[in-house]
Amino acid sequence: MTAKRLDGKKLGQEMRAAMAAEVTARVAAGKRPPGLAAVLVGENPSSHTYVRNKRKSCDEIGMANWLHHLPADTTEQQLLSLIDTLNADPAVHGILVQLPLPKQIREEAVIHAVSPLKDVDCFHPENVGRVTAGHPRYYPCTPHGVVQLVARNGIAWAGKPIVVVGRSNIVGKPLALMLMQKPTPANPAGGDATVTVAHTKTANLAEVCRAADILIAAAGQPRCVTPDMVKPGAVVVDVGTTVVDGKLLGDVDPAVANVAGWLSPVPGGVGPMTITMLLYNTLRAAERIDG
Ligand code: NAP
Repeated sequence: MTAKRLDGKKLGQEMRAAMAAEVTARVAAGKRPPGLAAVLVGENPSSHTYVRNKRKSCDEIGMANWLHHLPADTTEQQLLSLIDTLNADPAVHGILVQLPLPKQIREEAVIHAVSPLKDVDCFHPENVGRVTAGHPRYYPCTPHGVVQLVARNGIAWAGKPIVVVGRSNIVGKPLALMLMQKPTPANPAGGDATVTVAHTKTANLAEVCRAADILIAAAGQPRCVTPDMVKPGAVVVDVGTTVVDGKLLGDVDPAVANVAGWLSPVPGGVGPMTITMLLYNTLRAAERIDG
């Protein structure tokens, strides 16, 4: 079997083209363009690349964006004070603080400081709680990107066994929550699936994974999902991105394409969808704040 491609690059482009039209219509109606403020502390090369790509996508759809690049020795108080300023700035609808932060700054303090209305990463506990309770304000970008990538390829989740490998606060945990929930008009990305979450303490990982109709790998371990772990015909979504010798590797062994029915590539799968959903949240934030 050669798996069909879950093409996030193409889908992301289509979704962003639709968002560009929404931005144009808002501006034509006399509203401010939606605006995303990116905050980058220090010189982590991957963080610079992520922020550059996000800003480029903003530019492409006519979204205002700003970079606040602070030195690596910035204090927590200095960063919190910048966030206060951005919270109060009416041109800024979304605030993105690129993680990881230097060790003198507590991530938790920063996440708590971003106004929940402008929290387009959906990391603030108020927004996490709303997703958990099935009354989301925003969805977190990578999990939402995975949901859109699968759903918009016509693949149904309801009632199916899904295995998510990874339980981080950014990917695995919120994704599992979204997939298991009842979809409602207020919670459209709910999945009605029967979800198992695997992690480093999971016994018989291969056997657990083989039970999945949809297998989502978010472990950050290059090529840890091998063909023997995949049910023939299953949908496999590769969230992993690890740079090895200058090359971006996913969590899924490419030979899985011989067993799976669908497979998302790395690069070109979940990555572009994550950026797309960040812009989506910023557009929704502009609607909430400016009407
Ligand atoms: P993380 O915080 O390191 O969490 C990894 C999770 O995977 C943990 O829960 C860990 O289990 C589990 N895990 C690690 N090795 C495992 C193994 N061999 N078997 C089973 N479970 C294992 O990572 P993350 O932030 O969730 O990111 C995961 C991957 O996705 C990374 O490669 C990251 O770069 C990528 N990512 C991509 C995007 C994108 O847009 N494409 C966005 C975000 C993240 P324990 O809890 O037991 O330690």
